[in-house]
Amino acid sequence: MSKDFYKTLGVDKSASQDEIKKAYRKLAMKHHPDQNKDNPDAEAKFKEVNEAYDILKDEEKRAAYDQYGSAAFDGSMGGGPGGAGGFGGGFGGGGFGGFSDIFEDMFGGGFGGGARGGRNASRRGSDLQYTMEVSLEDAYRGKEATIKIPVHETCDACSGSGASPGTSEETCGTCGGAGRIRAQQGFFTIERACHTCGGSGKVIKDPCKKCHGQGRVRKDKTLKVQIPAGIDTGRRIRLAGEGEAGTRGGPNGDLYVLIAVKPHKFFKRDGTNLHCRVPIPMTTAALGGEIEAPTIEGTKTRVKIPAGTQTGQQFRLKGKGMPEVRGIGNNGDMYIEVRVETPVNLTKKQQDLVKELDSSISGKSASKHSPESTGFFKKFKDVWDDLTE
Ligand SMILES: [Zn+2]
Ligand SMILES: [Zn+2]
Repeated sequence: MSKDFYKTLGVDKSASQDEIKKAYRKLAMKHHPDQNKDNPDAEAKFKEVNEAYDILKDEEKRAAYDQYGSAAFDGSMGGGPGGAGGFGGGFGGGGFGGFSDIFEDMFGGGFGGGARGGRNASRRGSDLQYTMEVSLEDAYRGKEATIKIPVHETCDACSGSGASPGTSEETCGTCGGAGRIRAQQGFFTIERACHTCGGSGKVIKDPCKKCHGQGRVRKDKTLKVQIPAGIDTGRRIRLAGEGEAGTRGGPNGDLYVLIAVKPHKFFKRDGTNLHCRVPIPMTTAALGGEIEAPTIEGTKTRVKIPAGTQTGQQFRLKGKGMPEVRGIGNNGDMYIEVRVETPVNLTKKQQDLVKELDSSISGKSASKHSPESTGFFKKFKDVWDDLTE
């Protein structure tokens, strides 16, 4: 069934490209599905308009249409108007450009398949990310680390040609070196990349042994990374230009080194502060004294413990925490939380001493020596009495 594309667009057979474009814009706006949410016929009408414009805007197709009618396009258009697979999808397998060009100036882009400008443009290489684990000590001091990342480099055996040394690439027999082949489809000649050479126009008969014809080899690249003092998990260090190589002269991507600080045996980190649990003997807790605590610098520091210290009590050591990244020398603090250790494996004599101590601090004077437990059991007893009354 022949369609009248001129009639669809409401233009004369002798209409100029300008008139055709104007008529199309008006109709496309009018029938655009977004503007006609309540009109089920609009979409079909919209497709019809697009189909007509797609042919008439192209002088070559228009000439074929004028000569043979719409039958010239059957088969190569994926079944007429219904073949338009969504906006910008282009018509069927005919290789027509779709209607992205007009949509770009009508609706500000966003439709077409993005086919234009992409293929031969230079492109920036991708950014890469490398995760590096560092110890808390290294995070405290900062350091220069060496990392190895796999990269692709031009093969030195074949200088990147991919052909075995002494041989060279040959012109592709399929496309005669053009890289593209033409195929007849309906009334049109379609050009596509040559399947034999992948579009390069050259084939390698004797591939380079080292790179297996790829022209590139995988290598480990060694890079130095400055880890600043104070770095914490989740921070990234950017190495500009060390990412993937760009193509066709495009710039390289960047390499990001993502830091993960490993958990530490003694210290828990909270921003720039450090927390550390230190066990102390029951006697030291009772009588008071001095203990030694580890520091992140790898030294020991002496901490005064007052008499009567309880489990869970914290002591702050100012400035013994982590530095701030690029800070001005104000380190965080270190908090020591003591845990009172109950003595074990007592001899008979030691047990007698504890018993003696026990009898002297219990009884009437208990609330004086053990205020917390006395208070607790008193409260507990009150609750118990209430419940059993
Ligand atoms: Zn090679
Ligand atoms: Zn070829």
